[in-house]
Amino acid sequence: MIRFFLILAFLFSIEVQSQTLSFSKYVDTLCSNYFMGRGYVKDGHLKTAKFLEEKFKKINLKPLSSGKYIQYFNIDVNTFPYPIELKLDNKILTPGKDFMIAPESRGAKATYNVLNADLNNWKSFLNSKKDFRETMVCLDVSNILNKDTILMYKELRNILNKIFPVLWISNEKLEWSIEDKASNLPLIKIASKSVNYDFSKAQLNIENKFQKGLKTQNVIGMVSGRRKKSIIISAHYDHLGMMGQVKFPGANDNASGVSLLLNLASYYSINPHKYNIIFICFGAEEAGLKGSKYFTEHPLLDLKKVSFLINLDIVGTGEEGIAIVNAIEENKAAKKIGKINTRLNYFKKIKIRGQSPNSDHYWFSHHQVPSIFIYTMGGIQAYHDPLDKSETLPLNKIQDLYHLIIDFLNEF
Ligand SMILES: [Zn+2]
Repeated sequence: MIRFFLILAFLFSIEVQSQTLSFSKYVDTLCSNYFMGRGYVKDGHLKTAKFLEEKFKKINLKPLSSGKYIQYFNIDVNTFPYPIELKLDNKILTPGKDFMIAPESRGAKATYNVLNADLNNWKSFLNSKKDFRETMVCLDVSNILNKDTILMYKELRNILNKIFPVLWISNEKLEWSIEDKASNLPLIKIASKSVNYDFSKAQLNIENKFQKGLKTQNVIGMVSGRRKKSIIISAHYDHLGMMGQVKFPGANDNASGVSLLLNLASYYSINPHKYNIIFICFGAEEAGLKGSKYFTEHPLLDLKKVSFLINLDIVGTGEEGIAIVNAIEENKAAKKIGKINTRLNYFKKIKIRGQSPNSDHYWFSHHQVPSIFIYTMGGIQAYHDPLDKSETLPLNKIQDLYHLIIDFLNEF
């Protein structure tokens, strides 16, 4: 009996040694304060890349022919490294919840008189030739239902923001992003539910730092196969970083994808594929797919020998299934995935989508590498806001996606 248990324990330990799946551990780590939202404030992107390089070494991935795991490139990025403040009359608004700075916004330290503008009055007040030096224009579209009218207001916002700082009040969900340019004047987006009162003064304390030619990086490692051909698995590690004191953890986008990639890397490190499997954690995806664009223009391997690429971006849910972007173009692969899914019942639905430049697979397709991008559907809807955090990300289908990808790559 004891011997039986010992054998069981031994078998179990082999199973555990072969690989301990750790999806939430990686997501928690990547979303922790140390990484600062994996953006361009307090070296968040750099710390993340160093962490990933160390992980790649531990997992026993090898560098490509360059001998290095890191590929550097430069980006322009507008950042807000210091705490930000917005006061309307005497009420202090909460950044990230009540308002967001437009990512291209310029900073300002000033108190303004607020002038309410609309589609009818703006020309007449411009013609009035008043002294507008301390004026901030407020456009409130929260009561406008017609989409075309809102579009007209957005055009007006662009016109007026060339002359004035602008407050934009709307019912739109507040989301943030990264911009590679900076405008000349502040633009602040406010949630309508946060300002259900009249105000005449706006006090701003915002500093932007436009970083030109900032050095950032991709992280690349591989498991060699017997064949000369390669398969790439990619996931961007960067996120939005900090907007002043507000951190964007980016649990779903894309700590989840990096976590899945690291688990797949551990798997293939122990169970090599006949093809080389190359793992790339791209930088600067949120800044406009900059890392993958740079990689495809300065490839560290012959892209003609890459048989396939799977890009993982936002894979932390899955109650409603998965979506595959570029699946219409890569329909043989999509059909294979569909068949495996029907046989093993991983996901209740696979949504087939056409090509879209919405993640890092795009530049590979552009360079004739067969590529798909997989994301999960359903569950928590937090996106590009401070609520995309590890505490509330379900990760309840990520193991199914892990197995689906391994099953699919087995058919190569
Ligand atoms: Zn993403």
